[in-house]
Amino acid sequence: MKSNSQSPFKVNLHELPRRAGEMKSYHLEFAAPEPIGTPMLAIKAGTDLKIDFKAEAVSDGVLISGRVVSEAQGECGRCLDELREDVDQEFRELFMYESRKSEAEEDDDEIFAMDGDLADIETPIRDAVVLAMPLNPLCKPDCQGLCSECGERMEKLAPGHSHEKVDPRWSGLAGWQPK
Ligand SMILES: [Zn+2]
Ligand SMILES: [Zn+2]
Repeated sequence: MKSNSQSPFKVNLHELPRRAGEMKSYHLEFAAPEPIGTPMLAIKAGTDLKIDFKAEAVSDGVLISGRVVSEAQGECGRCLDELREDVDQEFRELFMYESRKSEAEEDDDEIFAMDGDLADIETPIRDAVVLAMPLNPLCKPDCQGLCSECGERMEKLAPGHSHEKVDPRWSGLAGWQPK
């Protein structure tokens, strides 16, 4: 397991003066160390992440707002075809200066704090991306999925496609003829 201090999501903001109103822009680009998304659709580990954000000093900390651009892969919830979806998601989070955070609730998980000059933007990005992902991704909105009997794509099959079904309870009688 990699040490957390190695995380590419930890950005060093030492160039940003701690005076309210100061602002700096940042650009990061690196391969996602771990997947980001849902089991159905995720930015796979190794996929390029492009992150642009601005950091703005406010009275209690640094407000970070930006966007992450990448590509997610997954499969259609109906036909199971592989699909790719562009990710272009905004995120925004306030990172309190450590000294200010201690004045707030000590173990409030909702509050992000700087670690010295470092702000770890992984969780805000992860949360924003996961929230924006469809719960049931589809290759196209009107995907008709697969035939539940033969597993073929419904779009390839003739309209009205169906399977003659003999109810197993009656199959013993299939050859039965009245005498
Ligand atoms: Zn589909
Ligand atoms: Zn079928």
